[in-house]
Amino acid sequence: MKEKCKLSLASQIFIALILAIVVGLCMQKVPDIASEYIKPFGTIFLNLVKFIVGPIVLFSIMAGIVSLRDIKKVGAIGGMTVLYYLCTTAIAVTIGLVVANLAKDFFPVLATSSLTYAAPKGSQPMDVIVNIFPSNFINPLSSANMLQIIVMALLVGFAIILLGEKVKSAIDTVNRWNEIFMKVMDMILRLSPIGVFCLLTPVIAINGTMIIGSLAKILLVAYICYVFHTVVVYSAALLLNKCSPRQFFKEMFPALVFAFSSASSVGTLPLNMACSQKAGASKEVSSFVLPLGATINMDGTAIYQGVCTIFIAACYGIDLSIGQMITIVLTATLASIGTAGVPGAGMVMLAMVLTSVGLPVDGIALVAGVDRIFDMGRTTVNITGDASCAVIVTKRLAGKKGE
Ligand code: ASP
Repeated sequence: MKEKCKLSLASQIFIALILAIVVGLCMQKVPDIASEYIKPFGTIFLNLVKFIVGPIVLFSIMAGIVSLRDIKKVGAIGGMTVLYYLCTTAIAVTIGLVVANLAKDFFPVLATSSLTYAAPKGSQPMDVIVNIFPSNFINPLSSANMLQIIVMALLVGFAIILLGEKVKSAIDTVNRWNEIFMKVMDMILRLSPIGVFCLLTPVIAINGTMIIGSLAKILLVAYICYVFHTVVVYSAALLLNKCSPRQFFKEMFPALVFAFSSASSVGTLPLNMACSQKAGASKEVSSFVLPLGATINMDGTAIYQGVCTIFIAACYGIDLSIGQMITIVLTATLASIGTAGVPGAGMVMLAMVLTSVGLPVDGIALVAGVDRIFDMGRTTVNITGDASCAVIVTKRLAGKKGE
């Protein structure tokens, strides 16, 4: 009986979105009340999101690297996989940036006191590179400097792999803490309906229907990029490796539908294994490549982060420089590595991409209400990327054996 009354988180968020639109429209004559009394609860939710981003990045990247500890045994697979994952993710975020830039004239500039913004001082490209490297272990965590946290995670993760069995307890510790922080993230994400309502209501009260129309536009832009990346980029990669895209998509269909409705790469993993093996991946390759991909390879998430960053910048009336675009490609590629394969995780990591180019994290409020719709598409792209990699790596290994 109790179960029956329970609405899924997705439905709760959707209801919160509708309520925020209705209440926001009703409060258009009194937007100050919405800003003063509703927005603070949204800020609490955002604070919690910001709080969890650092630990999640640190531990999920370390856990991802540590899971490569058999790299000697599967050296060839590991090298090809990581290269494929990094290249396709960088292409994905570039597609997102290009298409969103083409469409940005259709995005609104918001005149709102609930979303204020002060332009940061411009930084030199070399500063950006120098600042990736931390000079201290605590600062990156206390100042939530994500790029530096990622460098720390890479260094510590590789040290753990190199030390191997000697530090077996450290491997377990990393995995346990990763689970703990994932749980905390799960608890925070449960508050998303309240967060969505409290963040969106003041925005709608101040901006009215303009923002609703622009959400449809941003969703359309994201979905155009998702479809383009899936159909063109993966098909090209498959064709280059003499695999049939038609056969691939035919066999993958059940996994694609499951990913779309569950919005979880990790949840789709068992079905993805079965489908990609039918599509031509070997058991040995897919059992290594797919779990790794569900942790570190998120092309759909990278597209979403690129598109949303341009959208949010446009809403604040900001033109991003080429240097900032390059920073976005770099951070979104790394952010997607740090994104957990669970619903809503990509939105948490969007905070990191925004911070890296000096955009206010509050901008997430603009897209949070429809995050589930973004998420369904990006998860579908994410698992397709993993499966295409498994099929291609299998083919290449078979080619090498045959030589
Ligand atoms: N839900 C996505 C996935 O599981 C992650 C994200 O939120 O971007 O792949």
